[in-house]
Amino acid sequence: MSLSATVQRGLADNENIVHECRQCGTTLMATEQQCPACESTEIVKFDVS
Ligand SMILES: [Zn+2]
Repeated sequence: MSLSATVQRGLADNENIVHECRQCGTTLMATEQQCPACESTEIVKFDVS
């Protein structure tokens, strides 16, 4: 197991999660807290792993 290495990379945790705007359906980067299209902060996350 290399769990600690995965945590250190940081981004690995988010690779299987899709972030989508609840308002307009725009797919966001994992680091985005606000939709660039409609400026909504209602972001939903789907685990697609
Ligand atoms: Zn939006």
